[in-house]
Amino acid sequence: MVKSLQGTTTMKQSLLKGKVILAGAGPGDPELLTMKAFRYLQSADVVLTDRLVSEVIIQEYVRPSTEVLYVGKQCRQGVSTPQATINELMVEYALQGKLVVRLKGGDVSIFSNILDELQTLVEFDIPFEIIPGITAALGAAAYSGIPLTARDHSTAVRFLTCYKTDIISDEYWKELAATGDTLVFYMSADTANHVVEKLTTYGISEEKLIAIVEQATTPLQTVYTSNLYEYATELGNQSFKSPSLIIIGKVVQLQQQFNWLQNRQTTQEYFAPVKSDYAAQIHVKRA
Ligand code: SAH
Repeated sequence: MVKSLQGTTTMKQSLLKGKVILAGAGPGDPELLTMKAFRYLQSADVVLTDRLVSEVIIQEYVRPSTEVLYVGKQCRQGVSTPQATINELMVEYALQGKLVVRLKGGDVSIFSNILDELQTLVEFDIPFEIIPGITAALGAAAYSGIPLTARDHSTAVRFLTCYKTDIISDEYWKELAATGDTLVFYMSADTANHVVEKLTTYGISEEKLIAIVEQATTPLQTVYTSNLYEYATELGNQSFKSPSLIIIGKVVQLQQQFNWLQNRQTTQEYFAPVKSDYAAQIHVKRA
């Protein structure tokens, strides 16, 4: 049973203070993990892992004696480990003197709840380190052959999200339609129709294409591309597997030439979904 943070405050002065390593696990391919994260995983007492972390990393890079807790979030399914629970677990184990690796999909700072976790660690005076990871945009770009800022195509890239249709104002859509920057949308596969509709309404150039990269860098990766003005007929009815990333820009034209990985076009899911009863699946037996 997880203790409340309130209960652990009395232990704040504890001499037995561990450490928390906030580490990015990369977007899928387990070999995209950094050597530094690998080294910490090899000595961790406890690993708290997100859903979008390859199971191979857990099964093969973490010592069998390490306690592994699955604290995934999956907002699309309406099931998530509450952030407060994750914070409590980090604090509780660190105050027991343990080395805790908090493993996050992709990079730790891109569209993640790192701020809550950092604030909690500072509040409890727990030492920590941050290890970056390869974010999904960079993994998807590399494994689909789309150089995000290719010469003569784009001079900048923006990481965005449109996980809800009302989070981007019309004024900003207008700017996004006009910019030469490559646009990468995280957590937006379900709102892809809306993204395309807004950008075409504001007259985005015909030269720019859309790519949706499903399960990027995993053996199940599939890339869909389309002209934005033909999107509704070409891909409008397609539902994309989780996780998927959207890349929009002139650079997507290059995909046809440099795509080096075959599409899998599969119904299989690389990352297991979060179960509805998060408490029951926090401690899962290791194989
Ligand atoms: N911190 C992560 C992002 C977390 S938000 C990172 O840096 O990559 C989760 C979103 O990331 C997903 O909805 C999806 O848009 C994207 N994503 C993560 N892994 C992905 C993958 N393997 N393939 C495609 N998109 C991915």
